[in-house]
Amino acid sequence: AKHDGRGAYRFFEPDLDAQAQARRQLEIDLREALAEGQFHLHFQPIYAASGDRIVCFETLLRWNHPVRGAVGPDVFIPVAEECGLIGRMGEWVLNEACRHARAWDPAIRIAVNVSARQFRNPGLNASILQALANSGIDPKRLEIEITESIFLDDGGDTIAMLHSLRALGVRIALDDFGTGYSSLSYLRSFPFDKIKIDKSFVNDISRAADAEAIVHAILQLATALGMETTAEGVETQEQLDKLRSHGCDSIQGYLMSRPISAAEAGRLADTVAAA
Ligand code: C2E
Ligand code: CA
Ligand code: CA
Ligand code: CA
Repeated sequence: AKHDGRGAYRFFEPDLDAQAQARRQLEIDLREALAEGQFHLHFQPIYAASGDRIVCFETLLRWNHPVRGAVGPDVFIPVAEECGLIGRMGEWVLNEACRHARAWDPAIRIAVNVSARQFRNPGLNASILQALANSGIDPKRLEIEITESIFLDDGGDTIAMLHSLRALGVRIALDDFGTGYSSLSYLRSFPFDKIKIDKSFVNDISRAADAEAIVHAILQLATALGMETTAEGVETQEQLDKLRSHGCDSIQGYLMSRPISAAEAGRLADTVAAA
């Protein structure tokens, strides 16, 4: 694989052979990474809109390649999905996330991203149950974040799998809301516990009236449907003020905190629980 000097794999070679080669190398490196424990988790706090408490931590997978350094999940997760590694990787994430959450105040939830490809595996629900059993945390503390793409990809069982998770008490959140083709129709296909407003809307909320109107409408819709709301990608005080004024339930973004290590999350959970 070519190295572009910033720790990233290049897939944009004009030469298709080189591109295929880079991909194969990434696949080999990913298998090694799983075997050798090169992955770790970061956690990003999600605060109540008031800012006075943490309601959840979102789990974000990190890979520190021994030579290339940090490789982002946007780069390696699609490859892990294609080469069939996402199942084992996802199991590891679920187990680690629940294990860390066990040490936090039980009022704090743990959110885990699960991709469309993972839902194609009929064993997914058993893996989730296993992670809950291994950690002993209350299923109500676990929130699974999915995107609309799971409906496009649906082998027929996705909705049934979501219902059975819900029957266990696990919460289901619809991530990146508003970015797909028919977001509204998906709201009728499953009674989500939470909608996460995509950061592209949040980003524009203080400078574009249309983005503010869309966020306002999404929040009203969610309330009417009895779903909680989180705004992601909150970077400025102005964005936070707007989100508060429109009644968003919880907020996540660099303004409050970047994703942090498990140790830092543990300390933060302690201070907030003590407050
Ligand atoms: P996502 O689920 O939408 O996660 C939010 C992304 O936004 C994260 O990027 C996070 O670091 C970033 N972010 C948080 N606050 C801000 C902000 O204020 N401004 C901006 N510009 N960005 C912010 P990250 O960690 O690079 O993850 C990218 C994507 O990779 C995630 O998007 C998710 O789709 C996927 N991903 C990460 N971890 C996992 C995992 O364990 N399993 C699966 N299946 N996918 C994962
Ligand atoms: Ca997410
Ligand atoms: Ca998101
Ligand atoms: Ca995303």
